[in-house]
Amino acid sequence: MVFDRVFLDFDVSNHEVKKIKNELTSLRCHGLKHEKSRQDELKDQLQDLITNEKIAKQAIDEAKYFAVKFKETFGKYPALFFSGCKGCHAYAFFKATGFKNLNLAVSWFAENVKKSYNQHTLDLSVTQDAQARLSRIPYSKHQLTDLTVVPFSIEDDYDEIIRKSLHPHVEDFSRENYQTDFHKHLQKIDLVETYNARVKNINKTSNKVSLGGSKNFNGVYDHRVFFNSILGDPAREYPDKEYVMYNCPFKDHNDRKPSFRVHKKGYYCYGCQRRGNYWQFLRDFHDLDDMQIRKYLINLRN
Ligand SMILES: [Zn+2]
Repeated sequence: MVFDRVFLDFDVSNHEVKKIKNELTSLRCHGLKHEKSRQDELKDQLQDLITNEKIAKQAIDEAKYFAVKFKETFGKYPALFFSGCKGCHAYAFFKATGFKNLNLAVSWFAENVKKSYNQHTLDLSVTQDAQARLSRIPYSKHQLTDLTVVPFSIEDDYDEIIRKSLHPHVEDFSRENYQTDFHKHLQKIDLVETYNARVKNINKTSNKVSLGGSKNFNGVYDHRVFFNSILGDPAREYPDKEYVMYNCPFKDHNDRKPSFRVHKKGYYCYGCQRRGNYWQFLRDFHDLDDMQIRKYLINLRN
């Protein structure tokens, strides 16, 4: 995934707006002219809530606050756009950059912004798909309110933003003014979050490997199942006991007894005294590092 921008969506949730939107949308299903006077009436109500009742104010204030904080860290404001309805967007621009999973990175970033600055209007559902809603087109009209999507600056107060939206004129927009190194920050989050997602996935997979009825611990393997998949059937089983015995698989232990005991939570060899869990085993037995172990476990699943 290559991206050169991300955006955060600030949106007020408002019951009245939702009601009007629903009615208007269902009328629109039958065409723009269907019950035209009712459609106009609803549109006017919606506009009034935004322009006079100032219902978008909290979203705009929070976006401005975010912009100030963003500038403190990355040197420039993000570009702010009024959405034409009850919210606004903040766009951060950077040089085109490849990400493993930008949705995870932006979601993590947005969640932390929301938490740190106590921002109620930051909409986290949108950031889960960085691609699908990359932008509203500047200077387009919002389909329900007829208000225009316009840029605004930190200094613009609410009335000024609404004035621009009602009487828009196209302003020069230079990307240069907004270009930051934000991608470097996102790339770091991207790596960590992609890694975390993979580990989560492994744990989920391990649950599936467990024997019917046998409980997992910490969401990890029942080691009897794990060793069965690696070493095959044990040399001895004890149906009434919670462990099984293998001939010790370590090459420097020539075991004829079998001394290698595997219980639910790990293994212990009475001969060579090795003990541990599946992770330790893969590290010692196959001489794998952590990253290789993860890969190994994923392959084991497939
Ligand atoms: Zn041993």
